[in-house]
Amino acid sequence: MEILKKIELLGLQISDLENFMVAIGEPKFRGKQVYKWIYHKGKSSFYEMSDLPKELRQRLDEIAKISIPRVLKQRVSADYTRKFLLELEEKKRVEAVVIPQSRDKNAQYTLCLSTQVGCPVGCSFCATGLSGYQRDLKAHEIVGQFLGAQNELAKKLKTQDKKLIKNVVYMGMGEPLLNYDEVIKSVYILNDPKGINIGQRHITISTAGEAEGIEMLARENLQVTLAVSLHACDNDLRNKLIPLNRKYPLERLIQAVERYISLTNRRVTFEYVMLEGVNTSRQDADNMIKLLKPLLVNVNLIPYNEVAGLSFKRPSPQKVAQFYKWLTAGGLNANIREEKGGDIEAACGQLRAETGRTRKRRL
Ligand code: SF4
Repeated sequence: MEILKKIELLGLQISDLENFMVAIGEPKFRGKQVYKWIYHKGKSSFYEMSDLPKELRQRLDEIAKISIPRVLKQRVSADYTRKFLLELEEKKRVEAVVIPQSRDKNAQYTLCLSTQVGCPVGCSFCATGLSGYQRDLKAHEIVGQFLGAQNELAKKLKTQDKKLIKNVVYMGMGEPLLNYDEVIKSVYILNDPKGINIGQRHITISTAGEAEGIEMLARENLQVTLAVSLHACDNDLRNKLIPLNRKYPLERLIQAVERYISLTNRRVTFEYVMLEGVNTSRQDADNMIKLLKPLLVNVNLIPYNEVAGLSFKRPSPQKVAQFYKWLTAGGLNANIREEKGGDIEAACGQLRAETGRTRKRRL
C-alpha cells in the first residue's frame, strides 16, 4: 500500500493555509484558525486545535503535519542562557540558544538560530566548522527552532506567556547567506505581524563575508541588521581564519558592505573575535581603523570562547581593553561584547550539535 507523504504546514503563511483549506474542501477561514494555533500558541498537534471540528482535526492529522523540532537536550548556563539541542527531520540535529537580556524573572530573550546542519565555511576557530557540513535548513525548520525554543522556555519558566523572545539573531550553526532563499523566507514568517511578529529591527543576519549575499540582502528592502564577521584586517590572516575570504577578499567584502549601506542607509555591525597572539596587536587595530573608519559601522569585540580540540586562546581582559581603546581613539564605534553561555558551550563559535567529532587545528 502506498503511504502518502504528509503536507508540511509549518512555514506556510495565512494565505497559503487558506488556500490549503479551500483545496481540501474546507472554508477559507479555517486557514486563519490553524495559523493562530501554529504561530501564536506553538501547537503541533491538530487534536489540540479546539475550535476546529473533530472530523477536520482527524483529517488534518492524516494528511498534514506541523514539524516543530523536538528538544532532545538542554543545558542552562550560570547566567541563565539556555542551549537547546533540537531534532529535525531525518534525525538531523542543530543547536539554538536563548539568551536572557537580564537576570530579572520577567527578562526578555534573544534567540540565536541555526541555518544549516554544520557549516561549509570551516572557520579555523569555530566548533561548528569542525563538524563539517550536512545540509541547509528549510525555512520551516528555522521557524520551527523558534517555536520549539519558545515552547520549551515557557515550560521551564512555568509561564503561558509565548512572547518571551523579542530578538532573533541568525548566528548559530551555518552561514545564513549560503542558504539565502530559506533564510529570507523565514525572516518574513518571523516578522509577520499577524503571527510571531518579531520586528525587522529586532532581527540580525550574520555572515562570514558572503559578498554576493550581502548585495542581495541590500535589495530586499528589509530593516534587519547585517552583522559581518571580520576577525582579521589583512587578507593573509583572514584567508587562514575564514576560508571564504579566498573567494571574497576584504576589498570585495568592503565593496559589498558599502553597497549595502548606500542602499539601506543602515549601520552595519562588524564582529571581531579576539584571538590571543593572532589578531590583537596595535597593527591589527590600525588596519581595522583604516578599513572601517570611512563606513557607517559598529564594531563588536568578542573575546574568544575557547573550544576543546582547537589551540586558539582568549586574550586577557587587559589586552581586550587596550585593543578597544586603540579603536575608539582612532574614531571607531566599538563595544566589548559581554558573552553569555560560555560555560555550556553556547557562546559564539561554540555550537556543534554534539557530533562528538573534533580535529586539532592550528594556524
Ligand atoms: S564561524 Fe560561522 S561561518 Fe564560520 S564555520 Fe562557524 S558557523 Fe560557519
